[in-house]
Order: sequence, then C-alpha cells, then structure tokens
Amino acid sequence: MTNRIYSIAIDGPAGAGKSTIARTAAERLGIVYVDTGAIYRTIGYAVLANGIELSDVAKIEDYLPNAHISMDWIDGVQHMFLNSEDVTSNIRSAEVSSSASIVAAIPAVRKYLLEMQREVARKRSVIMDGRDIATVVLPQAEVKIYLFASAEIRAKRRWLEMPEVPYETVLQQVIERDNRDMNREVAPLRPAEDSVMLDTSELDLQQSIEAVINIVREKLAL
Ligand code: C5P
Repeated sequence: MTNRIYSIAIDGPAGAGKSTIARTAAERLGIVYVDTGAIYRTIGYAVLANGIELSDVAKIEDYLPNAHISMDWIDGVQHMFLNSEDVTSNIRSAEVSSSASIVAAIPAVRKYLLEMQREVARKRSVIMDGRDIATVVLPQAEVKIYLFASAEIRAKRRWLEMPEVPYETVLQQVIERDNRDMNREVAPLRPAEDSVMLDTSELDLQQSIEAVINIVREKLAL
C-alpha cells in the first residue's frame, strides 16, 4: 500500500484478541506481524526447562546470557528459537503463560530483550503486539492502538478455546496475569498518551479487525 517503513504498535491485556487481530491486519496490509509475547514466553519456557525457581531472580539474571533467543518467519509464521532449537510449539501452555508474565517483571529480562524487538522494526514495516510496544519499545510508532475488553469477556474467549478447564480457573488466571502485567514497576501494561483506545468487548473478530484497519488507514492516510 505504501513504500515507506512504518510501525503499528498494539498493546493490551491477555485475551483482548491482539494476536489474531494483528496477524490478520498484517496480512491485509502486507507487512510483518511480530508477536513479542512469544519472546517473553521463550524466556519463561527456558527458565522452567532449566529447573530454575521463578522466585530466584538472581539465578534468572545469571542464566540470561546463556539464553540465545532468535526469531524467524517460516511460511509467514513466527518461529522462536532458543539456543538454535525451535521451541515454537513449547511456549503456549498455561504454565508458560504464567512463567512468562513472572519473568517479564524482571528489569534485566526486559532490557535483555529490548534491542531484538527494536531491530525487527528498523528494517521493515511491522505490526507488533505486546504490553509496552507503544510506551517503551516503539514510542515513535506511527500508529498506536490499545485493545481491551472486560476480564470476564476475555476469560470467556479463552475458555471457549479450552473448555476442559473450568471457566472460573481461566478467569482467575486472566486476573492474575492482568495484575502482574499492570502493576509491575518496569514497563507496566498501560496505554500510551497517544494510543487509540479500542474496546473489543462488544465486537466480534471481524469487526475488531475492520476497526483496527480503519484506525491504521486513517493514521497513515492510506
Ligand atoms: O502476549 P502473551 O500473552 O503471549 O504474553 C505473555 C506474557 O509476556 C504477558 O503476560 C506479559 O507478562 C509478557 N509480555 C510483556 N511485554 C510484552 C509482551 C508480553 O511483558 N511486550
């Protein structure tokens, strides 16, 4: 649609629909989708796989230089590599979700992962989603969107994907992750001052995607 390099930052709590919406919007716009949650998940997974206690911040910090993390796009899908091993299919469990949000609160972890996120956006147009993209990673992004919905609605969406887990448990997990992500000292989840707020509570996926595309077109004058 345009030859210039631009960035779209999408932030918001777990289950607001960020990744599905961002992935589809990226396809429509012909740009790359970068899932930064996957990067934190890879560290969360690595810490668990190495048997390091999640409460042992010093040990996690010592371990970091041994975690060589990279990402690549294979057939349009973002793959995560930990010390050259493809761990893409290992990072989606509820245990890794929780571990990711615990390690993501450690300042040294965030610092360790910051540059690799900025680097991808230097070379090409991206739509990047996470918690601190508009506020910390890409504060210069041309488009900033904060996607949200009530905790109950987000939990219900998650629960429909995995009905074997009781709804109450899923809701509890969503609330715990919100609390950790919003109340940590470093890069807490919050909208940037210039983020466009998009409440997806009453929108289905298709409507959310159209709303995001409309915001992008308007901001970039496409
Ligand atoms: O987006 P996703 O649910 O995969 O992210 C997993 C966890 O990684 C989040 O709960 C959050 O704690 C952390 N995260 C973060 N900053 C980002 C992306 C994810 O702190 N930019």
